[in-house]
Amino acid sequence: MSWLSEYVRPRIRTLLGRREVPDNLWHQCPSCQQMIFAKDLATSLKVCPQCGHHMRATAAERLEWTFDEGTGTRIELPRVPADPLRFRDSKRYTERLKDAREKAHMDDAILVAHGSVGGHRAIIAAMDFGFMGGSMGAAVGEGIVAAARLAVLQDAPLILFTTSGGARMQEGLISLMQMPRTVIATRLVKDAGLPLIVVLADPTFGGVTASFAMLGDLHIAEPGAGIGFAGARVIEQTMREKLPDGFQKAEYLHDHGMVDMVVKRTDMAATLGRLIGLLRLKEAA
Ligand SMILES: [Zn+2]
Repeated sequence: MSWLSEYVRPRIRTLLGRREVPDNLWHQCPSCQQMIFAKDLATSLKVCPQCGHHMRATAAERLEWTFDEGTGTRIELPRVPADPLRFRDSKRYTERLKDAREKAHMDDAILVAHGSVGGHRAIIAAMDFGFMGGSMGAAVGEGIVAAARLAVLQDAPLILFTTSGGARMQEGLISLMQMPRTVIATRLVKDAGLPLIVVLADPTFGGVTASFAMLGDLHIAEPGAGIGFAGARVIEQTMREKLPDGFQKAEYLHDHGMVDMVVKRTDMAATLGRLIGLLRLKEAA
């Protein structure tokens, strides 16, 4: 802890009263506990300047950081039936959705946009962990299908930024049906001979890993990203074995051939642009 977090911040809090300090002024790095000024964090693309930890990003930030012109042009995604199972646990699913929509300012856990990346036309579908843990229900499935169709229509490569805890349990079987649907969506892109690049962000787990997230032509991961199907603790309990260090981390998966590249967030847009250039050049030849 620095003097800023130990001394200055508590003092500011005492002076202003806890509630009056905006939450967005300082952020604490979850990895090294360093306090970082929000403005600095924005310029570093939410990467800790101290330890290089890649913090979670929203879908809107992914679009903003990747497209040449900033945000690209978002497309409206098909509407899906809300709460088809009338699901309720401690809360109604419709209420959970309403809360998530208000908090994340998006309709569901995915955004799709088109624009240019490194001077090449591209479609991006970005998931958002902040929206119900990036869980995949019918809306996310529709988003992936819509992105694939748009890629084919525009004859452009498709980039998928994934982050998800897995299936949207409140949608039961309908959520699981999105696995084969998104697999078919990747097929549409491949049949059209277009590049499909998957960028795996922390965390990518469950049904998303078990479907479209592992079906790209290229798999890029952000440093330190956790990627897997079931969580390490579940596997350890099932296998009754200690798992190796760094298991399910981007670097480990890169060493073992599950991930093609581990790319820093600050290099991501340039790398994607370069890769699309190379893939399309090969195609033209
Ligand atoms: Zn840090």
